[in-house]
Amino acid sequence: MENGGYAEEHGDGSARSSLVFLGTGCSSSVPYPTCLIRPSPSPCAVCIQSLSLPPELNPNYRCNTSLLIDYCSDECEHKYIIIDVGKTFREQVLRWFTRHEIPQIDSVILTHEHADAILGLDDIRLVQPFSPTNDIDPMPIYLTQHSMESIATKFPYLVPRKLKDGEEVRRVAQLEYRIIESDCEKPFTVSGLQFTPLPVMHGEDYLSLGFLFGEKSRIAYISDVSRFPETTEYVISKSGVGQVDLLIIDCLYKVRSHNTHLCFPQTLHAIKRIFPKRALLVGMTHDFDHHEDNLVLAEWSRREGIPVQLAHDGLKIRLDL
Ligand SMILES: [Zn+2]
Ligand SMILES: [Zn+2]
Repeated sequence: MENGGYAEEHGDGSARSSLVFLGTGCSSSVPYPTCLIRPSPSPCAVCIQSLSLPPELNPNYRCNTSLLIDYCSDECEHKYIIIDVGKTFREQVLRWFTRHEIPQIDSVILTHEHADAILGLDDIRLVQPFSPTNDIDPMPIYLTQHSMESIATKFPYLVPRKLKDGEEVRRVAQLEYRIIESDCEKPFTVSGLQFTPLPVMHGEDYLSLGFLFGEKSRIAYISDVSRFPETTEYVISKSGVGQVDLLIIDCLYKVRSHNTHLCFPQTLHAIKRIFPKRALLVGMTHDFDHHEDNLVLAEWSRREGIPVQLAHDGLKIRLDL
């Protein structure tokens, strides 16, 4: 991967399922336009580098955090499940669905209702069959009641309703909402794969969801977290229910702290407590330089005995689920 070959695959080559990191950046995405149009006296090397390389060759080009799960069932049928559809969803589809031959989305799961997790909902129609009369199977979308209410306010036209007399049909994304609970004890099944909700604090006034999934490989995905409630941490910890194979975890800034996200020192601290077999970081700002900081992390990993790296957009990992 460090050779600039982007879509390179890691993991078990014989595995039939895979994870594709569609986005690994913060809400603003990287590069930051301000770093490019109004450079400061000490220019931002990470954002400036983005102009010299196309996004698919640049691990510092980070869209909104989102994960695509290509789940191959025991019957060898592939289902494509996406976690979060943010502001950069269309760009991510164009760049990575083509490269990784992802032909469709079967289901959507939402972690929460912030802009960087849901503003791509309108564009779900771009991956749905065309019907001017909306006469297609709706896309199942799994979300909390709180997210549902927020979406009904932000996108009233994406919530199914009867047309008023004389109202014209307009083509919009066809979605079917399925409510999930913010409770580790209330797993739900999406396209044949079971997910356990992992409620986490995303700021002390807000609950977001991570998810634990996979039987053959146990994956914990937590994209937006500032603090782990004890019950949630227990479910994914080596000292609790059991060690996960891969922890995908939020990491916003490198040195500063933040009230609604973990930052580098807190993320590493959480990884040490949870003790997964391996961890990948997501949600990074332009604070992080992919190559430089992965060298720092390689050193940390040797010391602590847990391999940890920054993920990057387009990263594909083969594994069995
Ligand atoms: Zn920058
Ligand atoms: Zn958020």
